[in-house]
Amino acid sequence: MKVLVLGAGQLARMMALAGAPLNIVISAYDVNTDTIVHPLTLQKLGTGLSNAIADAEVITAEFEHIPLPILEQCQQSGKFLPGSEAIQAGGDRRLEKALLARCGVASASYLVINNEADFKQAVSELGSPLIFKSALAGYDGKGQWRLKAPGQADAVWQQMADFLAADAKQAIVAEQFIGFNRELSLVGVRAGSGEVNVYPLTENHHVNGVLSVSLARPVNIMLQQQAEQMFAAIADNLNYVGVLAIEFFEVDGKLLVNEIAPRVHNSGHWTQQGADVCQFANHLRAVTGMPLGNTELLRPTLMINILGEDHVPAAILSIAGLHLHWYGKQKRPGRKMGHINLSADSLAELKARFARLIDLLPEAAFPELEQMLGRVSD
Ligand code: AMP
Repeated sequence: MKVLVLGAGQLARMMALAGAPLNIVISAYDVNTDTIVHPLTLQKLGTGLSNAIADAEVITAEFEHIPLPILEQCQQSGKFLPGSEAIQAGGDRRLEKALLARCGVASASYLVINNEADFKQAVSELGSPLIFKSALAGYDGKGQWRLKAPGQADAVWQQMADFLAADAKQAIVAEQFIGFNRELSLVGVRAGSGEVNVYPLTENHHVNGVLSVSLARPVNIMLQQQAEQMFAAIADNLNYVGVLAIEFFEVDGKLLVNEIAPRVHNSGHWTQQGADVCQFANHLRAVTGMPLGNTELLRPTLMINILGEDHVPAAILSIAGLHLHWYGKQKRPGRKMGHINLSADSLAELKARFARLIDLLPEAAFPELEQMLGRVSD
């Protein structure tokens, strides 16, 4: 089976690695250069979207910021899953908020800002603190502004006015700032038949808006049920096929959706070692019409992102239950270069292994890991 992935980054790479044992061959389409590449070597295989589509039995995507004409051409082929509507909803915060409202799913109160009058209305209606997010092309905390107190309104508006003036397609979504207890995410998979399998909720720690650590462990059943209901509402509404990730804020036992990602997700990388069937294999199973795989947690597992570094101390490989996943990318500050998965049969053992790992990793490149160490307990 031949699957074309829109995007040629690490998610396409990990789909290729998971697809090989299933006899699924992945090619990746780099939307920026209009080239078809091998997802592991990035060797050029051809050019042109039409050629890429013609050669594929199924088309899917590894990111959501894809130009509309490309999405439309893929949609017209009848091979595209989860399809253009889902990808657009993940890439435009206005569509995403409208989707959540349509599904009756709780999220932070918001208003869309196109001009200064909208901005003033947002500040008076939503109060402060507020967080402002670019409607398009926002990810990992990029394209965001914060208003801590009304006195900062003029200065914050000036920055946003310049941003809006530079791109007529942009808008800004103003959101109430949520004083959350924790950030969690749910990764799940929906088949064409409507069958859904979800992984356990994962607890996530971000540093400067970028995911640093995800922890998968046995979860609070009430929270898991809330998350699963929201997942089903959103996935059913989109008639979704494939892996979908939902990021949440937990506020006193209640979940609010922060955002959705219509694809395999960084907070699901732990499934490569901690779950029976990983998110990459499950996404490919869903989009190619194979039975979904078991999403049960096999053992508590942590995922630690490697950001802006192209090597780690070799000694970490001697820690039992540790698996290193490099993406083969050129080093750049802050860039997602790889990740470490660390598993154990018990939380106590995972904590001991994590403490050894923290001792071996340079703190400058892996800040705030100690904060997550405390979470790895019963
Ligand atoms: P996002 O790109 O929307 O995922 O935002 C990046 C990070 O900013 C999130 O992981 C949160 O830590 C924080 N954040 C985003 N939206 C809010 C909000 N409404 N209230 C509080 N923190 C937020």
